[in-house]
Amino acid sequence: MQCPYDGGHLVDAKSFNSHVSSCRVAFSGPLIQCKFNARHWIPMPEVAYHSKMCADRQLYLMIEATLQCEPVPLQRETEMVDVDGAGDEADATAPAAPPVTASDETHMLESH
Ligand SMILES: [Zn+2]
Ligand SMILES: [Zn+2]
Repeated sequence: MQCPYDGGHLVDAKSFNSHVSSCRVAFSGPLIQCKFNARHWIPMPEVAYHSKMCADRQLYLMIEATLQCEPVPLQRETEMVDVDGAGDEADATAPAAPPVTASDETHMLESH
């Protein structure tokens, strides 16, 4: 097999992984996101190789095929969970009573 980093390296399949990992150390180029698994970041020269060997490839292709073959969406019962727990604290402060103005009129009776 040909080393993805250096076409002059010819490696047999058994030692390919260890060879590539040693060549990878010297590589400082861009990393490409794997299309099968967003968590895989592959050095650019290895992308083609990784695309064939990615552990998530089968899963990805299976999901893709499943999506293409089943146009009928899964019917899922939607449970209506009534979440009515909003903290709606009523303002329980009673309106202030108006001050009572006592109008005491004292009638002075003047007697002559
Ligand atoms: Zn190499
Ligand atoms: Zn991958």
